[in-house]
Order: sequence, then C-alpha cells, then structure tokens
Amino acid sequence: MPNAPLSTPAVTRLAPSPTGALHLGNARTFLINWAHARQTGARIQLRIDDLDGPRVKAGADRGAVDDLAWLGLDWDGPPVRQTDDLTPYTKALGRLKHANATYRCPATRREVIAAAAAPHAGAHDVRYPGLYRPENHPPPIAPDTPAAVRLRVGPGPVAFTDGFAGPQSFNVNATVGDFLVATKAGLPAYQLAVVVDDHRARVTDVIRGDDLLPSTARQLLVARALGLAPPARYFHVPLVLGPDGHRLAKRHGDTRVAAYRAAGVAAERIVGLLAHTCGLADRPVVWSAADFRDAFDWKRLPPSPCTLTPEHDAWLRQTS
Ligand code: GLU
Repeated sequence: MPNAPLSTPAVTRLAPSPTGALHLGNARTFLINWAHARQTGARIQLRIDDLDGPRVKAGADRGAVDDLAWLGLDWDGPPVRQTDDLTPYTKALGRLKHANATYRCPATRREVIAAAAAPHAGAHDVRYPGLYRPENHPPPIAPDTPAAVRLRVGPGPVAFTDGFAGPQSFNVNATVGDFLVATKAGLPAYQLAVVVDDHRARVTDVIRGDDLLPSTARQLLVARALGLAPPARYFHVPLVLGPDGHRLAKRHGDTRVAAYRAAGVAAERIVGLLAHTCGLADRPVVWSAADFRDAFDWKRLPPSPCTLTPEHDAWLRQTS
C-alpha cells in the first residue's frame, strides 16, 4: 500500500470521543500526541468523534475541549465534528458498494452469535460467519429491512509497522471476518469514519491507545478498498491501567481530569505526573505542557502499560 510521500506536511489529530469525560489515561495519550506534533511541526486537527450515537453524552464534547485546553494543549484551526457533514461517509459507502466490496446484513447480534456457535461470546468476540455474504446464498433481504453494511474481508494477514509498537500482523479474516462499515441506523461505523476523516484531513501521523492496534488492520483494509493511501505513520501507545491490571475505569476512583480540576489540583501536577509515567522524569514533577513537550522522547516512553496507583492520586491531591 503506498505511503504518503515524506515531503507531505505532517498532520495529526486529537480525536476525543464524547462518550465520557477525559481521564488520566486519555490525557496521557493526548499529551504524547500533542508533544510529538509540536516537536515535529505537525499540524494538529481537533476532531470530535461524535458518531457513536447511543454512547455520546451531552456536554462531553465541550468537557473534552475544556480539559485539553486547561492542560495546556492547543491545536490548529477550529474543532471539527464528524456529525457536521455526513456526505463524505455516504460517498465512501457508495464507492464501496459500487466496487462490490460490501454487502447488506440485517442479522442481529444474537443471530451472529448463534450462527458462530459461540453461545457465551459477546458479539465483538465472534468471527462473523458470513451469514449474509452473497456467495453463501442468504435469504433475500427486503429493501425496507434495516440492514448494516459489511466489508468483504479476504483471507490472509494484514501487516504494518507501528512507529512505537513495532511490526504487527492481524488476520482480520480469521478473527473478525467481514466487519461493519455502516450500522443498521444508517450511520458510518467507526472503522469507516476514521479512514474517511483521516484522509480528508491528510493525516500523516496517528497516535492513539494500543487497544486500537487491531482496528488499524481493519482501517488499512477499508483504505485499500477505497483506493486511499492510509496515514504514513501510526504510533500506538500503551494504555493506563489501574492497580488491578485492568484498564483505568470508574472502579479505580475518580481519575477524570475535570474532577481533579474541581478539587483544586493544578494542571501542572497532572502533566508532571504523566511526564513521570512517560519516562521523562524519575519522580512526579510539576511541569507545564511546554515542559512536557520539550522533554518528550519516544525512546524514553515505557513499552509496557502504565499503572496508576493510589500513591499517584495522593501525590496529585497534595497541596504543598
Ligand atoms: N475517538 C477514538 C477514541 O477516543 C480514537 C479514534 C482514533 O484515534 O482513531 O478512542
């Protein structure tokens, strides 16, 4: 797959999902993304990923923008939101359909799980068993039946080299199968939307949590099916975990940036604690975002997940 030529001006994006408030884990990834951009002269687009209808929470978009600015991050140009204009996604879906790269699928989650013969699995854990793949001769679908749209996934691995996580290979066909590019509600699915968005903004550098590594393989397939060059570089960074080894969540206490802010914690303490977790300082420090940017170095970022402890929380909340 062709990569963007290196002479292309670098562009990255901060892409919060307004499905909840920014916590320390999101803040860490955004700081890394921002520092990388500001060190390399990349343009930064702020994109609100608000297509996930049912999960979007009122006011979370404003909250994310406020939290990022309060931490000292900035970006170039006004924020864009996915729901501002659905036309580019509709056009992309039209092209995929025209190329016979997709097909309609009215199956419910329950039908997919039952057909995959995995009764205890969640819909996201099962390989789509090709129920409505046209060559499997599915029952006819009436035109007015609500149906999602799936991308045909060919056999074989999808390989790419991540700028931080190294060489990767995912067999999308064997693990996920034909995946959704549009939902039954007629909205673009995340895997399609992100490809269209990144292409439109000429994004060259994607920096995000490493939970999205498997998604990158799917996004490369979407880009290929659309005949688009994918972003030139991906950097997937380890997630932040709670002391129990699970991804940072509510049960680990209130680690929302806004909650610390309301408790009177200075942004510089949050940035300085995160700098410590990024290998930039040997203990938590009080740092501005500019200090973080100046010190940031991919080579010092630990490759293993970052664990936040009650001691970190106590350090943030101490007043002197
Ligand atoms: N909005 C997504 C998230 O917050 C990130 C999407 C992406 O980086 O591709 O998880």
